[in-house]
Amino acid sequence: MERRQFLQAMGLAALPVPAATVLGNNLESENSGPVVVSTWSPNIKANAAAWKVLMAHGSALDAVHAGVMVPEADPKDQSVGYGGLPDRDGKVTLDSCIMDHKGNIGAVMALEGIMHASSVARLVMEKTPHVQIVGAGALQLALEHGFKVENLLTESSKKAWEEWKKTSKYSPMTTVENLLKYIENQHDTIGMLARDEAGNLSGACSTSGMGYKMRGRVGDSPIIGAGLFVDNEVGAASATGVGEEVVRIVGSHTIVEMMRQGKNPEDACKEAVARLVKLKGETAAKALQVGFIALNAQGQYGCFSLNPNFTMAVHSHQGVKVIQAKSWFPKK
Ligand code: ASP
Repeated sequence: MERRQFLQAMGLAALPVPAATVLGNNLESENSGPVVVSTWSPNIKANAAAWKVLMAHGSALDAVHAGVMVPEADPKDQSVGYGGLPDRDGKVTLDSCIMDHKGNIGAVMALEGIMHASSVARLVMEKTPHVQIVGAGALQLALEHGFKVENLLTESSKKAWEEWKKTSKYSPMTTVENLLKYIENQHDTIGMLARDEAGNLSGACSTSGMGYKMRGRVGDSPIIGAGLFVDNEVGAASATGVGEEVVRIVGSHTIVEMMRQGKNPEDACKEAVARLVKLKGETAAKALQVGFIALNAQGQYGCFSLNPNFTMAVHSHQGVKVIQAKSWFPKK
């Protein structure tokens, strides 16, 4: 079945977008019951799709999968799936990973021509003896399972790339100048974590990666431990921002280990950010953006970022919320 049909069959294609309450980032506690959290406020739409699965007694795994499929299919989201910004050579290349409550994992990297990278990551997890498949091999796996190749480069992303080419002279996105531009333009990689009725946790992460990246560049998002990590006994975490920096500190795994040592989700995220600041030094860290979200086994959640303007979207029985993350560096 085509992914779009799958969404339609599940009634997820035309979900109403709930109004969100915007909150400061205090420790939110659900204590028990289902909950879904994701990086960046626009993903309240993705959370609504995940919530629908949870409310139909679905698993956290099915919920996060259905959730990340929403921005993957949205041409207006230029950071994930269809309509994602291309690499510096004009190719849209996608990265995604998925992890369930039993430690099952699957990831794809530098996948081209398939909108729902998360579905291919799930195929890796469920239909192969492996955990990561890249590039042409990932595409081959998808085609073997009935996926169809699509052109993922929308007119507006092509236009943006052509604009970028005028001034960039193909310089990779690793100069401080380019990173600052990147912070201003905020990136919307989706990292989603859910806890289902049974109390099980799962997570998924999906991105088109850093806009105008070097061909073949992979960030943190499809790397289990960096962009996403789930330990059903402790909690789960996910990341967004400059992937190179998240990989350096194995961000999501670090956060889960902090929660294992007793930190609440927000403090665990803050500790990972502190590690990055220590490693890079204040000046370099100020020119970066990294945001973390975390959900513990009890259903409490929190977030923290390096620089201001990172948000986390939440959906639970308490309603729909957007939480403005506290940040290491204050607003200018
Ligand atoms: N973390 C993603 C990457 O480095 C990008 C992002 O979240 O903005 O590919």
